[in-house]
Amino acid sequence: MRLIILEDDPQLGEALAIGLRQQGHVVDWFQDGEPAGHALGSAAYDALILDLGLPRTDGVTWLRQWRAAGLTLPVLILTARDGVEHRIGGLDAGADDYLIKPIDIHELAARLRALLRRATGRVQTVWTHGALQFDPANRTVRWNGRAVELTPRETALLEVLLKQPQKVLSKSRLQEQLYDWSGEEPDSNVLEVHIHHLRRKIHPGIVRTVRGVGYALGAPQETPAAA
Ligand code: CA
Repeated sequence: MRLIILEDDPQLGEALAIGLRQQGHVVDWFQDGEPAGHALGSAAYDALILDLGLPRTDGVTWLRQWRAAGLTLPVLILTARDGVEHRIGGLDAGADDYLIKPIDIHELAARLRALLRRATGRVQTVWTHGALQFDPANRTVRWNGRAVELTPRETALLEVLLKQPQKVLSKSRLQEQLYDWSGEEPDSNVLEVHIHHLRRKIHPGIVRTVRGVGYALGAPQETPAAA
């Protein structure tokens, strides 16, 4: 998942960013609503983790503003233990779920998976595509029941393709989903190397090249299960 965090507390913000990155997610963390709003307008995120207690403008005000502007992604708010009226206000302003501080990173990750399932209309916790199975909870991949060893980046790429199995995604769109804004600027060869590895480790037909456009997941019938 590509996630955006708005949390002004440096320790908590950093801990959340590190914890979620360790779980294989791409994370952008902001301490102020202004740059977070710009980021939300320019990249496709899967979910927003929003602290309500922010200096100057609070989280509920930002959320109300962004929802009014058409922001549709799932939003999970972080609130203090005694903040029941804030939780109600946050949910009524357009949040989908909440967590009470102190935050357990594993619970946060599980709630984000649940939010993504709801947002994408999935009921199953394990995603299946032909002979391919992906379990977002422990980030394992199976092909015809056999475990496939992928690097975290290869797994993230497969997850992005699996999220929209019918869609052709441009290279820039795929890269945007795989890299946050903090670190390295990947060149497009890196993406091609990851695609090559997915085909070699899973099945040659698992990723389709659409010339001049980008990549898509191979159709399930082109990557059949073993007889
Ligand atoms: Ca705060």
